[in-house]
Amino acid sequence: MKKASFTAQRSPQTKKPRRKSNGWSAKWSDRIGVKEGQSIWVLLTPGNYITAEQQAMDWYECTRFNVKYMKTMKDGSKRQVYESCTPNEGECTLTTQAMAGHSAISGIPRNDEPNRFFMNCIEFGVNQKEVVTDKDGNPLRYQHGKMKGEEIFRWNKITSIRERKAVIQNEDPENVSFWRKKFFDLPPTHFNVLREIGRKAKKMCLCGGTLQPVHYLCAHCGETLLDIDHTDLSESEVSRFGDQATRCDGCQEYDYPIAETECDSCDTPRPHKFHEVVAEIQKTRGDKGFPQLVLSRVESLSDFKTADGQFVVVRDENNQPLLDDEDPEFRFVVDEKLEKLMKSQFDFELYTEPQTNSYYSEILGLREGQLGYVSDSKPYTSFR
Ligand SMILES: [Zn+2]
Ligand SMILES: [Zn+2]
Repeated sequence: MKKASFTAQRSPQTKKPRRKSNGWSAKWSDRIGVKEGQSIWVLLTPGNYITAEQQAMDWYECTRFNVKYMKTMKDGSKRQVYESCTPNEGECTLTTQAMAGHSAISGIPRNDEPNRFFMNCIEFGVNQKEVVTDKDGNPLRYQHGKMKGEEIFRWNKITSIRERKAVIQNEDPENVSFWRKKFFDLPPTHFNVLREIGRKAKKMCLCGGTLQPVHYLCAHCGETLLDIDHTDLSESEVSRFGDQATRCDGCQEYDYPIAETECDSCDTPRPHKFHEVVAEIQKTRGDKGFPQLVLSRVESLSDFKTADGQFVVVRDENNQPLLDDEDPEFRFVVDEKLEKLMKSQFDFELYTEPQTNSYYSEILGLREGQLGYVSDSKPYTSFR
């Protein structure tokens, strides 16, 4: 059999050294879910993740495969589950079996490109604090750590309009939250919907007007890369110009161009950043019958109100967002809590950490002698 590049021989998998944490550890329950026919209001928030190309990015991307297998549940019953699994570097049971066509593995990307995208956000809505109970209704308490003895609670998202009203009117404010820190975990097509939020934000001026680029400049030397009034490019080519990196003729740097814009209603244009707009995202059924995310509305954070009718950012006596001319950043009304949540980020590297090859051997049902087979007592079975 021909050796593929992904089986590059490296030293056998050993326990990885503990790395420095890159934020909060993400839990399955923090992952944002949109049910078909429903919509959510989200504010994307910045993150600081380093890609393989050593670029800092606001999102985290990686490659994962889906594995279908029969899982033994706590009560001993068996159930078919899908698990999202990250391949190991070097010798990897999962990759080897995926390339060999194992029928339980799906979602393998072409050309090794990332197929999962993660991004931090704040989801607005109505959440009620609920004590977690056992099956007899007794509250569960922490067994260890700083919180030992205290009741365990979770935030339950309320979706029905009638219940939301009741919670806002009657519930102790301590037990209600109008936002939660969450994260997106999406395949590329759905992730493009999030990118669209940023594109829309760039066209929205802080004054409420609409922005149009007039020039694109080199981010390094300031050379004009595109003058919109004097170009042979088509309208759609012009509108896409800012979306991709371009080589500058002046300094030869390859980077995203900077847009110089004009506003239709003010002389001091300032576009919104992606984390200064709130977006409504819906899940609908697409033409081919697959669920799809749709961006239905994008609003300035300065106009947005939480479910209890409060503005999120500070506004002046004229009901405009209060901005400092020197440093025009929104200031948040709701104490510092929301601002702190905007800055915190999840550690997706930890969340997507690969399992051991022996774990993958087990869920793939491999037997001794099969490609990539590893058990606790047997080393990796390589290509011969
Ligand atoms: Zn340049
Ligand atoms: Zn303006």
